[in-house]
Amino acid sequence: MEVRLLRVTEGGVDLVANSARVSGVPENLSREEIVRMIVENDYSSALEHITFTFDISGISVAISRELLEHRIASHTARSTRYNMEKGFDFVNPLDFFPELDENVRESVQKEFLKAMEDARKHYARIYEMLEDRPAVAKEVARYVLPMATHTHYIWSINARSLINFLMLRLCVRAAPEMRELAKKVRSAVVEVYPEIFSNVKCRGFTLGVCPENEARPKNCPYRNVIKTKKGVKREAGCY
Ligand SMILES: Cc1cc2nc3c(=O)[nH]c(=O)nc-3n(C[C@H](O)[C@H](O)[C@H](O)COP(=O)(O)OP(=O)(O)OC[C@H]3O[C@@H](n4cnc5c(N)ncnc54)[C@H](O)[C@@H]3O)c2cc1C
Repeated sequence: MEVRLLRVTEGGVDLVANSARVSGVPENLSREEIVRMIVENDYSSALEHITFTFDISGISVAISRELLEHRIASHTARSTRYNMEKGFDFVNPLDFFPELDENVRESVQKEFLKAMEDARKHYARIYEMLEDRPAVAKEVARYVLPMATHTHYIWSINARSLINFLMLRLCVRAAPEMRELAKKVRSAVVEVYPEIFSNVKCRGFTLGVCPENEARPKNCPYRNVIKTKKGVKREAGCY
């Protein structure tokens, strides 16, 4: 998986701070203080003035579908209708489960690789059967492509929506491949705008309370530090 930041709004901290000042933020606050306050207090509409464009490659079709669920973003994906996918590359999901027992891993890996090889063969065979009509050949053959097939993505998203994406997809409940993608996206944006993103992690960490409630798994690193939303409400007498 490769994530490259292709383009980002320059001077974003000034842009956001000046926009916030237009709306009446006190003059004595520095631009960094304004931006941190906007993120912390979720006065986030001013963050929409900053946009990022990423080039994302080597992710699976499975994860690209999850990426597409983030509607407040612009998506361009490699087309399997117009590109020939003979000999396609694929993501090996076992890479995301290093804890699996070695014996189990070996047999699952064998089965998985065989499935990929079979799909490649079927794709190639169907394509060759329709070779005199290449457009139809691609249209038909693509239906045998597995969810693991590599795809390529150009993704634009504003800073507010990106915070929402990171909060959801850095959570330990997110799919491991998606979490890996979210981590790479976060590293890229923390480098450019630490004022905005350095305190953005999963929802529990970022909000100071975890909305996953009883769904929060045992491997959550903040389990003993961040309370659940229901727990806080119960303590406050909201139930
Ligand atoms: C751990 C995990 C498990 C998931 N499991 C499933 C699953 O089982 N099945 C499934 O289908 N999806 C699942 N999802 C996807 C999830 O439901 C969201 O579709 C996805 O995370 C996009 O989030 P979003 O809607 O906040 O983002 P965006 O679509 O980018 O929206 C951003 C924000 O804009 C607002 N918004 C956007 N569109 C509307 C609208 N039409 N009406 C009102 N407000 C709107 C909301 O406030 C939203 O939070 C899962 C996500 C995670 C992180």
